[in-house]
Amino acid sequence: MSTLGIHHVTAISGDPQRTLDFWGGVLGMRLVKRTVNFDDPGTYHFYFGDGLGRPGTIVTFFPWGREARAGRQGAGQVAVFSLSVPPASMGFWIQRLIANNVAHSALARRFDEQVLALRDPDGLAVELVGHEGALARPAWEGGLVAGEHSVRGVHGVTLWEEDGAETVRLLEETLGFRSAGEEGGVRRLETGEGGPGATVDVRAVPGFWRGKDGAGAVHHVAWRMHDDEAELALRERLAARGVHATEQLDRQYFRSVYFREPGGVLFELATDAPGFTYDEPAEALGESLKLPPWLEADRARLERALPEIHMPGAGLREALLSSPIPDETRDHT
Ligand code: ZN
Repeated sequence: MSTLGIHHVTAISGDPQRTLDFWGGVLGMRLVKRTVNFDDPGTYHFYFGDGLGRPGTIVTFFPWGREARAGRQGAGQVAVFSLSVPPASMGFWIQRLIANNVAHSALARRFDEQVLALRDPDGLAVELVGHEGALARPAWEGGLVAGEHSVRGVHGVTLWEEDGAETVRLLEETLGFRSAGEEGGVRRLETGEGGPGATVDVRAVPGFWRGKDGAGAVHHVAWRMHDDEAELALRERLAARGVHATEQLDRQYFRSVYFREPGGVLFELATDAPGFTYDEPAEALGESLKLPPWLEADRARLERALPEIHMPGAGLREALLSSPIPDETRDHT
């Protein structure tokens, strides 16, 4: 009945093409679904993940457009989240960030991890975390980053809280997390086997301003639920503690319940099924605009209204794949 860990993180961005270029291009994650924001179908919803968009690997964006107001990092928010990479790939990533002019920190250590902090083009605070556990997660071989170095999904989230005590209680007593230590004012909790995809850090930031939604801010974090039964049982347990949650909603690729935790962060529960191959085959994930049945009748109008986009580095990758092997190389292979 507990959560199995992180299902996805959803953030707000500005220009959709810039979001694609950074997350699909520089970070090399696979665009596993191109759809619209079901609550605002005039804007896109992009899902990035590993090769199949397995639960726990997914980062999604609502690109509000170039005129989007800027968000603000603060209390009551997932202020930072981290991506999982193999520990031996940290050098590769430092070079890749330098080559692409991405602002980043020096390599640091936290708990048993190596951490490289960076900002995406909208100012979103992201970390790359090198942890042995990444090696057990499938690599995406078809992207612009070689499989061995590829991002293996979400590692963890950091909640900034005015106080944090009530949040920790909810995570432990209702969501199934347990304490995994404390370091530098951060309380770490984990679920399941812990490690990548099952870690949440709670940082108390008393007196700090509240976070605000907008480009460069995280909108919510979703927790994995094994199935509908587990999700609805957890919803009951939330109600018993006086936490109001929404009805279960059909999000096409998973079924969701939303609620605010005591510190104000928007939480979602999301089922593992049916996943991203629900409406297109694995090899074609993310290539065309998918709409839920209730918006399909409006497709032509929606497609005209949405900004035109292209896959990052698509031309480059085709050129690399189609170029013949030079003769001098062939002699030595
Ligand atoms: Zn969500």
